[in-house]
Amino acid sequence: RTVYVNGDYLPETEARVSIFDRGFLMADGVYEVTSVLGGKLIDFPGHLARLQRSLDELSMKNPLSADDWLEVHRQLVARNDVDEGMVYLQVTRGNPGDRDFAFPPEDTPPTVVLFTQSKSGLADNPVARTGIKVISVPDIRWGRRDIKTVQLLYPSLAKMAAKKAHVDDAWFVEDGFVTEGTSNNVYIVKGGKIVTRNLSNDILHGITRAAVVRFAREAQMEVEERAFTIAEAQAADEAFFTSASAFVLPVVEVDGQAVGAGKPGPVATRLREIYLDEMRKAAV
Ligand code: PLP
Repeated sequence: RTVYVNGDYLPETEARVSIFDRGFLMADGVYEVTSVLGGKLIDFPGHLARLQRSLDELSMKNPLSADDWLEVHRQLVARNDVDEGMVYLQVTRGNPGDRDFAFPPEDTPPTVVLFTQSKSGLADNPVARTGIKVISVPDIRWGRRDIKTVQLLYPSLAKMAAKKAHVDDAWFVEDGFVTEGTSNNVYIVKGGKIVTRNLSNDILHGITRAAVVRFAREAQMEVEERAFTIAEAQAADEAFFTSASAFVLPVVEVDGQAVGAGKPGPVATRLREIYLDEMRKAAV
């Protein structure tokens, strides 16, 4: 595989990053994941806009222009012959040479790493026809979940708790209300109304969430942005989640309780279709 590191396209075995990199030592970095369908990037402008926001929130400079980001993404997709899969990008605060909690001087170059992963069955995903099961776990992450940082240890532990419980994912719960999934935004549907948590520092502002909420409203579906509980999800007609790599997928069980008929519901199924149709048209 060819990867990108700080301006160079290299075989992955030749890519090098310093052990003093603040991404490695302190999780001082941000990332984005953009899906590729038919060799094209899905919702690329959305990811670039959020990258800028994450960098701004951490007082980091954007190392590349929008055109250059697009070029690097396209080069990697082409060089690795990615038809379906994703491009991962990461920007860290670089290598100050010494470990120090204080930020290094402003002119310290950031570390920019991108790579691709091919994965078939993203669009035609059998899980869209079966749905996933989730458990709830306490949300003990930090208070700036709106910044897409590489500190993913707790979501990773939560994913392992889900695996141990023989389900697919975990939903985080804080003060009695669901925040989000380990790597996705979550929704319930009751009486035709879609409910998803309102944007704040408590959740990641999903690029897919923004698109799906817009498409739902354009299709005259009602969307209410507010927090909901696990009990409400268990009593809902259907549930689903969104992320850039999974698009829209149904959730059919929450903490051992079937949601609705325990099968993918019509709202999730329809929103997945709309999302894929519209986003393929807009893909770059
Ligand atoms: N919430 C969390 C915690 C995530 O990690 C992600 C994606 O990685 C999402 C939500 C979904 O965001 P997006 O639709 O931009 O992928």
